[in-house]
Amino acid sequence: MSKVLIIGCGGVAGVAIHKCCQNSEVFTEICIASRTKSKCDDLKAKLEGTTSTKITTAQVDADDVNQLIALIKEVQPDLVMNIALPYQDLTIMDACLACGVNYMDTANYEPENLDDPEWKAAYEKRCKEEGFSAYFDYSWQWAYKEKFEKAGLTALLGSGFDPGVTQAYCAWAQKHLFDTIDTIDILDCNGGDHGYPFATNFNPEINLREVSAPGSYWENGHWVEIPAMSIKREYNFDQVGQKDMYLLHHEEIESLAKNIPNVKRIRFFMTFGQSYLTHMKCLENVGMLSTTPIEFEGHEIVPIQFLKALLPDPATLGPRTKGKTNIGCIFTGRKDGQDKTAYIYNVCDHEECYKEVGSQAISYTTGVPAMVGAMMLLTGKWNKPGVYTVEEFDPDPYMDALNKWGLPWQVNDNPELVD
Ligand code: NDP
Repeated sequence: MSKVLIIGCGGVAGVAIHKCCQNSEVFTEICIASRTKSKCDDLKAKLEGTTSTKITTAQVDADDVNQLIALIKEVQPDLVMNIALPYQDLTIMDACLACGVNYMDTANYEPENLDDPEWKAAYEKRCKEEGFSAYFDYSWQWAYKEKFEKAGLTALLGSGFDPGVTQAYCAWAQKHLFDTIDTIDILDCNGGDHGYPFATNFNPEINLREVSAPGSYWENGHWVEIPAMSIKREYNFDQVGQKDMYLLHHEEIESLAKNIPNVKRIRFFMTFGQSYLTHMKCLENVGMLSTTPIEFEGHEIVPIQFLKALLPDPATLGPRTKGKTNIGCIFTGRKDGQDKTAYIYNVCDHEECYKEVGSQAISYTTGVPAMVGAMMLLTGKWNKPGVYTVEEFDPDPYMDALNKWGLPWQVNDNPELVD
């Protein structure tokens, strides 16, 4: 019996909302609020009659804390699910604190405007001190820890697939399979084909920022940074086949390095085809990935936002995408004095996802854990005042819920390792 305010109504939120509506016992009432209210109304119209969850909708600019506070006061939710963009994480956390409501999201904070002097100064200091230069990091949200503790509220950060499920896999491996985990390789493979020469599977701006940044990994207590896409491996993925994958910086490395005791190395690899990389390099070379506004025929435009307007909306890729995703973690370490390896992963079929909720597997593999994370907070299974990432909670109920709600996982005790 709970009421939830969901902010955002894009590709990922669409799946999370479908899943909440399949789970009406927990999600008795939801309010869908986003910048474009008509998208919320369309989804409400589609779902009503198929669910006993009561659905309302609202318009909100989530960059504006006062609008958020007014909406939260009106809706009176038990939890705010932020499935808008990472740009809104801090304003939504501020509004949750002001109204005394729990918070969750699917991606850590990054600023929309990378030229903001205050942010830039903090960023440059962090690059120097920490040794990685991605635009996103946990420091901004970890800074809210004491405020949430004092307010007796829980903030769950990054409950998507990666970050999210990958950290639950790590916590579960630590709890059930290993005495010590030495290395973690997170492998994110999308073997899907949407038939377009170039499209991104989730928000293009966030996606292209992430994959065009320098790569980095954690080794022996510090970050090692490398030029973008300069470490490549091949891997034979179960039910997908052989793929090229590249080492990227990824946010869960930062929290896992703190929360998995004595871990020696953590890396993240994502698969990309040559055509995707060539398109991306070309767009980068001509300045289309820039976030700095330019003047064009009397208008100010941000190149990457203009590019977003040209690219297919990820929410429309569902009916066109065929193939499977395979995302998981390979562990090496020790158990009872013996060397041990394990690979925990999920395989998800784009076409099956489309049949079930009308979306491709990238939104599905993120939207399901968003609902599952919310369910953990709403049912009191995860309840710890402060600001936490997924691996800081008991993984068992989350892992059970993934099996039940569409993302079943499996364990291979003898996987091919990545060199
Ligand atoms: P979309 O661009 O499809 O959707 C974003 C939604 O947020 C849209 O409905 C948009 O409204 C809304 N929005 C944007 N700005 C505002 C604002 N100022 N006020 C109110 N609403 C706003 O993104 P995705 O669904 O692809 O991604 C959603 C989130 O999921 C992102 O944070 C992304 O980083 C994260 N993600 C996490 C993954 C993981 O595994 N952890 C994987 C993939 C994504 P409008 O329709 O008007 O534009």
